[in-house]
Amino acid sequence: MLKLDSVKVSYGAIEAIRGVSLEVPNGEVVAIIGANGAGKSTLLKSIVGLEPVGAGRVVFEGKDITSVPSYKRTPLGVALSPEGRGVFSDQSVQDNLLLGAYAKKDSPESLKAKIERSYVLFPRLRERQEQMAGTLSGGEQQMLAIARALMSEPKLLLLDEPSLGLAPLIIQDIFKTIRSLREMGLTILLVEQMANQALAVADRAYVLETGQVTHQGKGSELLNDPRVRAAYLGVH
Ligand code: ATP
Repeated sequence: MLKLDSVKVSYGAIEAIRGVSLEVPNGEVVAIIGANGAGKSTLLKSIVGLEPVGAGRVVFEGKDITSVPSYKRTPLGVALSPEGRGVFSDQSVQDNLLLGAYAKKDSPESLKAKIERSYVLFPRLRERQEQMAGTLSGGEQQMLAIARALMSEPKLLLLDEPSLGLAPLIIQDIFKTIRSLREMGLTILLVEQMANQALAVADRAYVLETGQVTHQGKGSELLNDPRVRAAYLGVH
């Protein structure tokens, strides 16, 4: 579904992504793990068009989208749930969801049906639909960020550190959600520092170090790779 071919992204003189190639096959969960500053968020931003690609190609469903502007990528079927969630704090839960559907020309009935689907997936959001998003707990805000990204009906969902700053039990819920979304047929590219959890859920995974892929393989293979375990799982 998604292919990156020798992608480079720079911030001025800093080369944050230094020739990354990867593939996200249809229906799979692919994880990118790596330390702070490895370039994970930059890579996701380049896929949705929020950071320009300096060299290489981004190919989505066989189409070269490297130069397609961000607002035209959403309707193609790519959505990002950003790091730090980025919900609109002074808007209600329901309005945040409606904003997630802005790129589609939905009828009122289809919008209603989509919101209903969000509430089936995240019952907590139904209970809090009138509440301002800024007053939700961290876990609820993360669920809202995912639900909002799903409102554009993506084929490929990009998740940037969905577990960041959440309590262990809530993190379990988020990973359960990721599994159910996969079962529903969604393709997911997941960026995580929680390497253990991410590798356990991932069909395929990549390790990113200072803007380059250093290891890749099945999630289970990387989970058992001594070098990955030592560097990212705290196991020696
Ligand atoms: P984290 O988990 O901390 O977000 P990351 O792996 O997502 O880390 P990035 O945020 O993609 O890493 O950052 C990669 C590199 O690019 C870092 O060296 C960072 O300082 C730099 N960088 C990121 N955003 C910018 C920016 N807007 N301007 C300049 N440099 C940036």
